[in-house]
Amino acid sequence: MRCNEVVNRPRLKILVTLCLAVTFLPKARAQSPTAEQQLARDIFRELIEINTTEPVGTTKAAEALAARLRAAGFAEEDVKIVGPNARKQNLVARLRGGGAARPLLLLAHLDVVEALREDWTLDPFKFTEQEGYFYGRGTSDIKEEAADLVANFIRLKREGFKPDRDLILALTADEEGGPDNGVAWLLKNHRELIDAAYAVNTDAGGGQIVKGRHVRNAVQTSEKVYLTFALEVKNRGGHSSLPSKENAIYRLAEGLARLSKFDFPVRTNDTTRAYFERMAAGESGQTAADMLAVARTPADEAAAARLSASSVYYNALLRTTCVATQLQAGHAENALPQTARATVNCRLFPEDTAADVEQTLRRVLADEQIKISTVSPAKPSPASPLTPELFGAVERVTKEMWPGVYVVPVMETGASDSLWLRGAGVPAYGVSGMFFDVDDTRAHGRDERVGVRSYFEGVEFMYRLLKALAGGH
Ligand SMILES: [Zn+2]
Repeated sequence: MRCNEVVNRPRLKILVTLCLAVTFLPKARAQSPTAEQQLARDIFRELIEINTTEPVGTTKAAEALAARLRAAGFAEEDVKIVGPNARKQNLVARLRGGGAARPLLLLAHLDVVEALREDWTLDPFKFTEQEGYFYGRGTSDIKEEAADLVANFIRLKREGFKPDRDLILALTADEEGGPDNGVAWLLKNHRELIDAAYAVNTDAGGGQIVKGRHVRNAVQTSEKVYLTFALEVKNRGGHSSLPSKENAIYRLAEGLARLSKFDFPVRTNDTTRAYFERMAAGESGQTAADMLAVARTPADEAAAARLSASSVYYNALLRTTCVATQLQAGHAENALPQTARATVNCRLFPEDTAADVEQTLRRVLADEQIKISTVSPAKPSPASPLTPELFGAVERVTKEMWPGVYVVPVMETGASDSLWLRGAGVPAYGVSGMFFDVDDTRAHGRDERVGVRSYFEGVEFMYRLLKALAGGH
């Protein structure tokens, strides 16, 4: 029976009222945010609406968040604003614990990449809620996590939570580029403020939505190492009307052609073996079999070849890669080239060394006349171990909040600030409870956004994870 047909009979009127109440009550209840959600939303809005692109800097944002922490009861000595200059200040706050274990560091960066109004359909530096999403520059990289961490530190403080170990929050400058990387600066100038047993870097890892379904929660344990070479061929040149077979461009091009056909040997480590083993569970047929075959030691070469052919991502997870990215040659249209130069960018397996890669490159180019020099030296970044303490806690909370979602360790092909921590001997893990659609990545792009549900669930995830990792009451 549809409700609107019976309004003029008294008992039925009551029934209709009840019917309407039942229909609408859940929505009314779901839509009113909790006090914690309201706080997390307010901090998020404030942060998005403070421009922290490189030219502007991070100081205003750091001070705004510090003011909130102080207002929530953090002591003066537990809220520090420090940095190399007036524009690039970092925020470091500490929730003191019982000292039963070494501190835990929570990390996010405050800076965002540029966003031009004309490229976006809405103002990138205005916090906009629209059709179930929060929009703005930094909503997925990485202000959603900076706001999440501050909201949770305030919540834990207000609840009088006493962790067994100190929790340190570092919100830093220049992760996206710029001369004043905050993590590197803190490690060099104020290591005592951030020294910890290990770090949770919220700027990596995180939940993955595939075709509308929450499928997996990635924990980043390692990153490939960034290394760039320049290749150069010199020649005496001459008039282009008198060409000889000896030509700088041809020589370099032939070397690059040899490189284009070369693949570095298959490599796996604890992270990628565990990754492929767990991913196999979500695959079927040959792909599943191949994933299990590369997860074995030694990895099955044929299986690796098939996976590499099927996906550039899997290929990048199975070996060091070096690729030509830039080319310059010649100085005049009518002159034989005297210099030909190429840039080759490599992403090393954390276990590979720059010296080995350079030697391999020299062997593959197989031409003494192609001079190799290093443009961006490798910054060693040893993989962080798959510790049960961290993985166990992430798995427990993930299962509680998203039954059926599995946790998978990942090695990322790009770099984050974990590089500095790992290089300084501090294990670092990319962990976040924010879920994003793998086919709709908008970080650094236009109309950047995060789902409203994803945001609030991500904040709740971090609250539970902090309590699980910190111990205490
Ligand atoms: Zn980032």
